[in-house]
Amino acid sequence: MGKGDEDTWRSRNITRRDFVHGLGLGGTMLAFSTGMTACTSEGPSAANYPPLRTGLRGSHPGSYEAAHDLVEEILSIKPPLETDEQYDLVVVGAGVSGLAAAHYYRQRFGTDSKILLLDNHDDFGGHARRNEFHQGGDTRLAIGGAQYLAHWFFTSTVDALMHDLGVDMELLLAENEFRSGRNGRQGPAIWFDKATYGVNKLVIGCDLAGDIGRDMLTAIDAYPIGEMARAQLKAFYDKRTNVLTGLNPEESRLYLTSTPYTVFLREHGGLNDEAIELFQSSSHAFWGVNISTLSIQEALANGSPGFHLLGEDTTVRPHQAREGFFPDGTASIARLLVRQLIPRVAPNAHAGNIAAAQFNYAELDRTDSPVRLRLNATALNVSRRDKDAVITYAEAGKIKTVSARHCVLACNHSMIPYLCPALPEAQKEAQRYQVKVPLVITNVLLRSGDAMEQLGINGAYCPGRMHANLYMLKGISSGGYSNPMSEPGPVVLTFSGTIAAPAGITDVREGFRQSRKKMLELTFAEYEREIRTVLDGMLGPAGFNGERDILAITVNRWPHGYAYEYRDLYDPEFPKGKAPHYLARRPWGNVAIANADAGASAYLGNAVDQAYRSVQELPAS
Ligand SMILES: Cc1cc2nc3c(=O)[nH]c(=O)nc-3n(C[C@H](O)[C@H](O)[C@H](O)COP(=O)(O)OP(=O)(O)OC[C@H]3O[C@@H](n4cnc5c(N)ncnc54)[C@H](O)[C@@H]3O)c2cc1C
Repeated sequence: MGKGDEDTWRSRNITRRDFVHGLGLGGTMLAFSTGMTACTSEGPSAANYPPLRTGLRGSHPGSYEAAHDLVEEILSIKPPLETDEQYDLVVVGAGVSGLAAAHYYRQRFGTDSKILLLDNHDDFGGHARRNEFHQGGDTRLAIGGAQYLAHWFFTSTVDALMHDLGVDMELLLAENEFRSGRNGRQGPAIWFDKATYGVNKLVIGCDLAGDIGRDMLTAIDAYPIGEMARAQLKAFYDKRTNVLTGLNPEESRLYLTSTPYTVFLREHGGLNDEAIELFQSSSHAFWGVNISTLSIQEALANGSPGFHLLGEDTTVRPHQAREGFFPDGTASIARLLVRQLIPRVAPNAHAGNIAAAQFNYAELDRTDSPVRLRLNATALNVSRRDKDAVITYAEAGKIKTVSARHCVLACNHSMIPYLCPALPEAQKEAQRYQVKVPLVITNVLLRSGDAMEQLGINGAYCPGRMHANLYMLKGISSGGYSNPMSEPGPVVLTFSGTIAAPAGITDVREGFRQSRKKMLELTFAEYEREIRTVLDGMLGPAGFNGERDILAITVNRWPHGYAYEYRDLYDPEFPKGKAPHYLARRPWGNVAIANADAGASAYLGNAVDQAYRSVQELPAS
């Protein structure tokens, strides 16, 4: 049982590596040399179609300043008496949870309900974000945030939503030959960079999970690290023992959840600091933190090696659940929801063509539509007056107010104490506890995948760099879009990772705050330099030339990324039903609370479940 008890899925399921991923999931427009602002002579352009925008995306410049001014008390809001518009429901946050809340509201209160969704970004979907590139001639889609459908965790509520949206999970799985960079001809790879390791070196046919066969032991000989560290790594992967011998199940559980993974590596794996350092950022994509902050159990869930020291037979590959992928990640689910709420946005779109469908953003916020989705609109205050909720928001530098019979807050919980200062103090404290995990997903359009092909790799782990993993995003042909592994032409290379908190920070949530600050401070030029350094260093020997071969770069910053999941080494064992998210999500009269934070689990299924619960909690009138 995990720290937050039964409804945090990670803790429920950490027994085997059934969700291991190895290589990880895997202001302004930039001033960039090679024609970054995608547009075709006809149809969508970056001006009217946000997925085409490049440069700093995700939390793009302009999306967070009003909220930060409120938090820093530069801005203080008192709701005015007059309201501009009246709705049945106002939803704050048009991520998957907010969109699903609108869907469930129509189910409960009728499809003629007047609904307004507000979101501070210039695109909908929250983390379910799509990047689209046309620069190389052919359209290439990319995943700007949330990646796959973890269907094996879906509740019946989520299954029913998928059914309503027409998503056929079996078909989605069959249409996917993408394995997060692991299916290169020569298998996975590790790239050691000069700044960290003194030499640029690509070692092929190895990863840190260590379950890819005995050739890997030979590959370790090529790691540019000290001789002792190399010898220890080889001995570690070769060792078979059971350190749990003599412990009963409860003692074993306590050991696995209270012992830092790095201590385990040192004491039972026989690794020195240099060898352990190699693992440090291998948990960035899955947990958004350095491995030194993980317990043994959490690291094993990440796919890190260790089962072979716990008496498990690692010669038998454990069942690996296959993820459901659309070519733009879970953005296709957000699109399907938007299409259902506001059909005129994409009249002919359905699950079978959703990834390829054109969306007309001009239709999102029309006065004659029962459901309206307002982008670039940041909620700043939510109060209650008589039987209404009154929502004050900033849009294009103006402060506006709307009222509604009901309100669902589907935004990150850490924002709610500022939006609703009148909430009970203990509830606001619980919301502040839920600090989201910062992440970066950078998509780079390359003229071709030739250099990767020549090297025989589809991805690599980069232990010394900002983005710990990179992989070619090909082999997902679903939703009416086709991009098989064998397709020539431009290719998207996805870099994923986080900006590690500065050394010396012992509180993991303070680490997230520091990491977020740094992520927002870095300029596009700095992200771009990082990308070029890695690509030139890694692929240069295979004929790659960044000046010629990089066509576009989109940096998706997610300073408020994964929902906070209770951590073995940093959170107490909460009594059943008493973990902070239970208190944080309590309804406040006609204001209910959704978002993935409400279930303390960073998954789409949870965001949907929380949307459903929040709508059922709204008073009938
Ligand atoms: C990089 C990354 C990768 C991920 N990968 C996966 C994956 O592979 N599979 C998976 O299932 N999940 C993944 N997730 C988790 C993802 O968070 C959930 O799946 C889900 O998309 C969360 O939806 P949400 O609506 O709860 O939150 P969000 O997506 O955060 O949406 C909330 C929206 O509310 C907006 N908002 C906040 N405050 C205000 C305000 N004051 N006014 C107006 N709007 C506001 C936010 O900016 C945001 O747009 C990933 C997340 C990230 C960041």
